[in-house]
Amino acid sequence: MSARIGGISESATLAVDAKAKALKAAGRPVIGFGAGEPDFPTPQPVVDAAIAACSDPRNHRYSPASGLPELREAVAAKTLRDSGYQVEPSQVLITNGGKQAVYQAFAALLDPGDEVLLPAPYWTTYPEAITLAEGKPVVVPTDDSTGYLASVEQLEAARTPRTKVLLFNSPSNPTGAVYPPEQIAAIGRWAVEHGIWVITDEIYEHLVYGDAEHVSMPVAVPELADTCVVLNGVAKTYAMTGWRVGWMIGPNDVIKASTNLQSHLSSNVANVSQRAALEAVSGPLDAVAEMRSAFDRRRRKIVDLLSAIPGVSCPEPEGAFYVYPSVKGLLGKEIRGQRPQTSVELAEIVLEQAEVAVVPGEAFGTPGYFRLSYALGDDDLAEGVGRVAELLGEAK
Ligand code: PLP
Repeated sequence: MSARIGGISESATLAVDAKAKALKAAGRPVIGFGAGEPDFPTPQPVVDAAIAACSDPRNHRYSPASGLPELREAVAAKTLRDSGYQVEPSQVLITNGGKQAVYQAFAALLDPGDEVLLPAPYWTTYPEAITLAEGKPVVVPTDDSTGYLASVEQLEAARTPRTKVLLFNSPSNPTGAVYPPEQIAAIGRWAVEHGIWVITDEIYEHLVYGDAEHVSMPVAVPELADTCVVLNGVAKTYAMTGWRVGWMIGPNDVIKASTNLQSHLSSNVANVSQRAALEAVSGPLDAVAEMRSAFDRRRRKIVDLLSAIPGVSCPEPEGAFYVYPSVKGLLGKEIRGQRPQTSVELAEIVLEQAEVAVVPGEAFGTPGYFRLSYALGDDDLAEGVGRVAELLGEAK
């Protein structure tokens, strides 16, 4: 096994989800807060478009590695509609989910030893993708005291002559934090000033609550467009995680180089999935509006329930479908004869004793926290957090 591939760790979020599903299959009444996917079905018109696409022989053959021309055009139009960012279809590369776009963006931009500023808590895939591209993740830690937002001052303190890219993700997985527009603009201006590329992952753009607003960094700072890659996809907005369609948007040379890479790696994304995505991005946003109002209700409920547990502190997230409470107040305490010292150990006790699956903060570069996804039914949510509260209430 090569050191490069042997060194990749298993996706902790998928591992928790798999463990919860295995326990469930063995008959244990596990409630899972681990999954990063909406619990809603894909909207019917999207499914219907896919069914029709199956019978159309055009979709039975290879198609351009860069994506169906109609879909690239529709993604450019959707990007203008939703975030006000004007791009040409030639600047869009359709990928096998947002994940492939993450990997290819780093592969296209990094030379060995190039540094990537990575605010933590971070989505667990970013450091692996950076390392695979022979870059060096430079973690910029944030915590609940600042709502998990990195400031320009913190980024500046981490900048070195090798800094090539800033990874930016708002709304954030795992914290649900949404950067305010003025902070996005300040970070964008700082990046332009220092010639730093920004890879901005906007996959949760439509899942923002209350007064929070999603602003795309190259719209806030138009001068950034030449050194910016936007990542997005249909997974979270249209409840389409299993269809595997995402995209990257960037300057033409970056998109061309990434297409060359993709042409040797995976070629075109499955045509039926692309046709489904075409229907999704060309259609209305009413399904996501419905999901958003359900998520908003669950968000407020889960924050209330978690905040009532002694030793847990839970900032109210403004986006995505995750809460990221600190559980530091419980570490070192005795719970049913065990004394967890880390959030990994505490998460194991919660799974064993309360039959509830959560992802420990270690997966996101910040020990001492749990990530809970509230993309599950209201009853399961109340029952699951109730069990956790009962268990953790015994801590002494
Ligand atoms: N970016 C972020 C921040 C995510 O949370 C995810 C999925 O969990 C993705 C990208 C990739 O999504 P997909 O590959 O399912 O399109």
